[in-house]
Parts: sequence; C-alpha cells; structure tokens
Amino acid sequence: MGDPGLPFEDRQDFADAERGLIAALDPGVVEDDHGAVVWDNDSYASFLRGDGADSVHRSLWRQSSLVTRQGLFEVVPGIYQVRGLDLSNVTFVEGDTGVVVIDPLLSVETARAAMKLYRSQRGDRAVTGVIYTHSHADHFGGVKGVVDEADVDAGRVPVIAPQGFLEHAIAENVYAGTAMARRAGYMYGAALPRGPRGGVGAGLGQTTSTGTVSLIPPTVDITRTGQELTVDGVRMVFQLAPNSEAPAEMHFLLPARRALCIAENATHTLHNVLTLRGALVRDPRSWARYLTEAIEMFTAGADSAGGASGVDVVFASHHWPTWGADNVVEFLRLQRDLYAYQHDQTVRLINKGWTGAEIAEMVELPPALRRAWHAHGYYGSVSHNVKAVYQRYMGWYDGNPARLWQHPPAEAARRYVEFMGGADAVVDKARRCGDEGDLRWAAQVLDHVVFAEPDHKEGRALLADVLEQLGFGCENGTWRNCYLSGAQELRDGNFGTPTVTSAPDLLAQLPPEMFLDALSVQVNGPEAWHLDLAIRWVFPDDGPDGSSFRTTLTNGVLTAVRGGAGDVSLTITLPRAAMAAVAAGRLDAARGAGLSLDGDERTLRQLLGVLDPGDPGFNIVEP
Ligand SMILES: [Zn+2]
Repeated sequence: MGDPGLPFEDRQDFADAERGLIAALDPGVVEDDHGAVVWDNDSYASFLRGDGADSVHRSLWRQSSLVTRQGLFEVVPGIYQVRGLDLSNVTFVEGDTGVVVIDPLLSVETARAAMKLYRSQRGDRAVTGVIYTHSHADHFGGVKGVVDEADVDAGRVPVIAPQGFLEHAIAENVYAGTAMARRAGYMYGAALPRGPRGGVGAGLGQTTSTGTVSLIPPTVDITRTGQELTVDGVRMVFQLAPNSEAPAEMHFLLPARRALCIAENATHTLHNVLTLRGALVRDPRSWARYLTEAIEMFTAGADSAGGASGVDVVFASHHWPTWGADNVVEFLRLQRDLYAYQHDQTVRLINKGWTGAEIAEMVELPPALRRAWHAHGYYGSVSHNVKAVYQRYMGWYDGNPARLWQHPPAEAARRYVEFMGGADAVVDKARRCGDEGDLRWAAQVLDHVVFAEPDHKEGRALLADVLEQLGFGCENGTWRNCYLSGAQELRDGNFGTPTVTSAPDLLAQLPPEMFLDALSVQVNGPEAWHLDLAIRWVFPDDGPDGSSFRTTLTNGVLTAVRGGAGDVSLTITLPRAAMAAVAAGRLDAARGAGLSLDGDERTLRQLLGVLDPGDPGFNIVEP
C-alpha cells in the first residue's frame, strides 16, 4: 500500500533523526520501582528496522521507524535531547553550573531514566531550572523524576510555564477526563499487541508511557511575548502562544545557542485541531499566527540585547530538530501554511453551504505541503481537522432540518437493518462490498448491524475484519490505532481504560472552584431533584488565608459561590490532601486525610449519595 507519489528518496529526516546521537538506552525499556515495564521502545524498534509490511501503510512505517529512534542526542553544543523514551522529548540546556530541563516527559520513571542517560554522558549536573512549554501532561508529568519538590519550594529551582498553565493542566483531566481516557485507549492503541498487524506508533510518538504522573506547580509565569529570563546563565526570550496546540503554550529563543524551542506547534506531523480522544476544539487560525510571529520575531529580527540574531536550529518536544537557518524558516512557513490552509479553506467552503463531512472530502493540501513529510497526517488528519474547524464555527448541526432530530445510533440501526432486509442480508451485501474494496461503506452498514443486533456473530466478525483492513491502510497512526482497537474489542470484548487516568498529584492541585465543578458534573440529576442542601466548604490550603464557599443543591444542580452568605446545615473543612477522597465519595479516607465536619453530617452523605462517577469501561464499538 502507499502513495507512489510520496518522496521516499528524500532521506533528510533519517539524517536529522540520527544526527548527534551520543548514547541510546540499552535495553530501551523503563521499569517502575516494582519492576513493571512502563516504557518499551524495543517492542517497536525490533520490527520497525525492517522494510515494511503489507499490513502497515508505507508512509506510516517510515514515520514510525523514525520516531522509534531513541537515545541522548546533541542538538547543538550545550543543548541535548532524550528522544524515544516516552511519547514526548525532554530537552537539556546546559547553564553556568547545572542544566535547565525543558518538558520532563509524562512519567516520573521515564523522566528519571532520561535524566540518568543524560548525566551518564554529560556529567552529574544539578537541575537549575525547569520549563513547561505547555499544559499537556506529556510535558510535565515526569517532573518529579528530574527535580525534588523541596528544592522548588525552597526557591532553589524555578519552574517556568506560560500563564494559565496550572488551570489548563488540571482542567483537561477533570471534567470529561473519564471519557477522554477511555477514548485515548483507542487513539494510542494501548491495548494492541505491537507489531506489523498491531500497534506501530501514534505518529507523534510511539505511545504514552504508563508510569507515575506528577506535577509541581510553576513558580514563574511567562505573561507576555518578549519577556526575558536568565536562568543559570541561560538567557531566554519568550513568545506566548495561548490557544494554539494547547490552551497555555509558549515558544522561546535561546539566543546564545541560536536555537528556537517551538513547543508543540511545529512538529514532524500534521497535528490535531481536535484530537480523536475528544477535547475542546483548538484554534488553527491563532496557531498559524503564532508561527508567523515566531518567524518574524526570531528568525529575521535583530536580537534586542545586541547578541547574535537568527536561528540555526528549531527543536520541539516531539520528533527531531530542523537545522540550518533557511531550513528552519522553510519548515516554520510550511507548518504555518498547513494550519492556516485547513482553517481558511474550511471557512471558505462553509460559507458556500458545504458541511463538515462534505468539506473533509474536498480539501486537498497544496503540492508543496504534500511533498513535505512533516505536513503529512500521522497524528492529525485533514479529514478530522476540517470537521473540527466546522465544529468550531458551526457546531454539530449542519442546518438541514431532516437531520435535526435523528434517532440515536441503536434506534437508527434497528430501523435501517429492518428496511435493508434484516441483519443476515446486510452482512451478505457488506461482505461483497468489502471484497470489492469498499471497506468504508462496509464499515458504515455493519455498524448498523452491530448496533441493531450486538450478538450477531457474523456481523461482529465481519465488522472486525473490515475495521482491521481499514487500519492497515491508514497513513495516520491514530486512525490505525482506533480501527484496530475497535476490531480487537469486537473480537475479544471491551478492554476498558488500559492507562492510568487520574493522578493524585493533579487532583491535589485542584483549585476549589474546579473541585466543586468536578462534584457538580457527577450529580445524578433525577436522583437529586428532590434534594435541597446548603453546605459551607472551608479550604484551609487555598492561598495564604484559605477560602470558603457556600454550595446549594437544588433541582439537581450544585451551585458554588465563593464566600457566599446564607444558612447552611453543615460546614466542611477540607484540606487539600482530602479532596481526592471526597471527589471519589470515600468519606472514611477523607477523614483520615484531615476532613472535618461541623453540623448535620447527613447533608454530606446525601450529597455523596447522588454522585454518579464516570464509567471507564463504557462501550464504543457496540451499544
Ligand atoms: Zn505533547
């Protein structure tokens, strides 16, 4: 399989992905303290060194074999990266006395292994600063593997992040976190065996590590573009890029090294405007504008302190760097055009009356972008990004009233299958479709069979085969993972959520408003219709003086007012350490962690009694 027009003769990415290799981790496996494997790069590298397989799109095979290269690499003297030890990269910038760590991976265990690998080659340098480029967990979760919280608390090590980092880092995991985690299992292929007929990688990185996610809140906020900091003699010039690939994100120049860190806004893949696991839709218009601003600000203009101007290398927290002043500008321009083109063309076609599903079939990237490997959709795709832009501007409804009040999937499926002559007849027809290569249609009709009759053995088996073939044909790593995960669940049953979902470290940083929000989205409305409760919550650890909220529960709605006046039947004093236990409805554990109650305790029991937590094992590919 594969597009014969792809420029396989262009081997620059292989040169760049291997450039500066100092040492690899051998074996490429990271274990936790109990000996459980949390990262296994060798399980990919062992087969991806080969020539390819009929069951993997040739372009995805190429990308995966690049991404699976692991080790400590020199970017330029003084800047090093460990790549291939997690979904993301960690970067080390050497200062006067120690080393500044940028984006310490997703897990404490992988970050610790990366730090050890760095130190084994570059000496036992102390960490003198930490930078989080943005609010996604694969860029901060390993922080406790590189620095001691006590050193941060004592002011010895600054932790630098873009404004809004903490709120966004937590928010994405709090509200729809259970559903996102379940779907992330599909997207990253966590339950798939690794190999040419299973997981080959997610395009951005191979997969997510499965160790301990930690968080140390930032101590220094970057609040404006042009802001400068010098840490351990390392001067940095920042550019804020909020509402791009993440809601809180930033780029920065290291003028002394003529190196630009572009966070995750320009990588060697077309990225997501809306990730398949689900999230708020991103803004590709802003995203493109920040890349324009980065080109203008860093690659052309004079350095404000009179130092060297320009950029000789751009690096990101995924994939390999791009070297050479001209290559850097070309790379950033193409990446900018990539996001801007999808945005602008989608909006143009929206205004001609086309809908998201239609535009997704219409938008073709310009030739220069199709020739650029880094603009290919290994993680995002033009198809789902276009639908995301449509969603951002227009929402779920396409304007056609015949589609305004459609039956939900199981109801529609039952009716379709009956109209089409029953499940057996549909399966026969779908089999012929599949044999003729129309896998896409076969999947669409077999979905109706499975949703109408989930126990229809032939229907399930055929849908699994069809999804598998669709996966084998995908250039996109996350599409492949989704198809193969669906096939696996149809054959072997629901695999639930294979990865860790909520880290205690993240829950412990919940601001009170978000904690109370997290409770309110768990209230089972109908069960709470008859309740009328008023509670005062005291959060002694919120700020220097603590804070208090009055909540009411009426009509199934939990409403919180900071400092709110009025009668209550119960006052709850809730130290930070007890918040996770309360959110999980575990009152005894909460008491053990310092929860205290003053008043009618039944009130809290009534509230906890109507909390209805999410289901990490909900069905996806069947009703
Ligand atoms: Zn990332």
